[in-house]
Amino acid sequence: MIPYRHEPAVDFSKEENKKAFQAALGKVESELGKSYDLIVGGEHISTNEKITSINPGKKDQVIGVVSKANKEIAEKAMQTALETYETWRKWDAKLRADILFRTAAIVRRRKHEFSAWMVLEAGKPWDEADGDTSEAIDFMEFYARQMLKYDKGYDCLSEPGDHNEMFYKPMGVGVVISPWNFPFAIMAGMTVAGVVTGNTILLKPASNTPVVAAKFMEVLEEAGLPKGVVNFIPGSGSEVGDYLVDHPKTRFINFTGSRDVGTRIYERASKVQDGQVWLKRVVAEMGGKDTIVVDNDADLELAAQSIVYAAYGYAGQKCSACSRAVVHEDVYDEVLNRTVEIAKGLSVGEPKDENYMGPVIDEGAFKKIASYIEIGKEEGKLVLGGEVDDSKGYYIQPTIIADLDPEARLMKEEVFGPVLAFAKAKDFDEAIEIANNTDYALTGAVITRDRQKIAIARRDFHVGNLYINRGCTGSVVGYQPFGGFKMSGTDAKAGGPDYLSNFLEAKTYTEKL
Ligand code: GLU
Repeated sequence: MIPYRHEPAVDFSKEENKKAFQAALGKVESELGKSYDLIVGGEHISTNEKITSINPGKKDQVIGVVSKANKEIAEKAMQTALETYETWRKWDAKLRADILFRTAAIVRRRKHEFSAWMVLEAGKPWDEADGDTSEAIDFMEFYARQMLKYDKGYDCLSEPGDHNEMFYKPMGVGVVISPWNFPFAIMAGMTVAGVVTGNTILLKPASNTPVVAAKFMEVLEEAGLPKGVVNFIPGSGSEVGDYLVDHPKTRFINFTGSRDVGTRIYERASKVQDGQVWLKRVVAEMGGKDTIVVDNDADLELAAQSIVYAAYGYAGQKCSACSRAVVHEDVYDEVLNRTVEIAKGLSVGEPKDENYMGPVIDEGAFKKIASYIEIGKEEGKLVLGGEVDDSKGYYIQPTIIADLDPEARLMKEEVFGPVLAFAKAKDFDEAIEIANNTDYALTGAVITRDRQKIAIARRDFHVGNLYINRGCTGSVVGYQPFGGFKMSGTDAKAGGPDYLSNFLEAKTYTEKL
């Protein structure tokens, strides 16, 4: 088998790639507004209640209309998944992995098409959408190979006359509740991790981006995944989500999304329901308040470039996004001015027209971010942006609030938009102290040339993903396993060597010879 390598990024400066992507956008545009069914046990179900998915950059453009599940359908899906589990769990791990390899191959052939769906449905710029599709492929390729490793089990010590082994078995039915910000990669990654380990899945994609998920279901079917292994049940969190999280037959929940929802799931899942005979496992990937620390001994151009890229890529809507720059006082003004200068040049508009930054995801996000800008204006100094416009889509200009107190709300609360907070530190130790002052601990970066400072950051900067001399976004499957501490989540490290163990049970086997 070819060793795993990540999928390369498409170079859109090449004319042929640009043309191919424009063609994919054209194809997707010709398919807008279609209806998508729920899928339970391979059966397509159309309901009266619908989720209408729109383009957040052009509100009057309908991407698709997706049937919405309710409790009855969720229960039917659970029964189907329980039944299918009894056959799927017996499949050879290699055959399960083969389905992932085939799924990856199909997506690779339709790469631009998938990315184009995300440009329109999630408001992703081209390169961000391409990165999302590539990451989806990476998850399939990586987890398939990981499963083959897990399948070998652990060769335990044995004494003459006995034989010991430990091997891994699937667990049951898992509920996947996926986010809109990586509508393909994270949705598919969480789903295939459960599938390749031999579990059956109830997939509830984010309500803002159900069409990309519906397209993924088509690929799974084409790849030969048996009916009922993944059941597609978009619906509301408070109805379908809660119902399945509480369900006594749910074995695990794999969630990525907000802290509020994640803690709610964690709490509900901890209650042992009547008829429940296990403790549910919860994998939760939640928020971040990620910081780039700039030392006085740093390449300042690199610092400003890294901050801008990490703060405004996908309009700051990544849990890894740089939402704070904490800069040594000796170089504070210089870094701030250069960051403002670069960010001023970013184009904002419809992502399909190759703008650097698109809209934020929906009205709720738009209002929340706008209100944080107002808070920021009171707490600090608005030095860039601040303008918001929701007349056509949910657009917010790249914004910088400077001179913030480390305890300011803008420095501690997750905004999840293109709003960057700047604060000054008197020395490196204080910078790390400020960087650690939130409830979150997801990503962080340090820009410095000083090995001593790097050593301090390695030990004391409390984040799940620490980057040195680069920005804090863009982890790559298998290269930078991703996940955080504290209120950022359960640190399951998606795209890492231990991730699949979350969906497996280890069984020890001893035979007297
Ligand atoms: N893994 C992504 C990154 O490193 C972020 C994932 C997320 O936002 O949930 O940028």
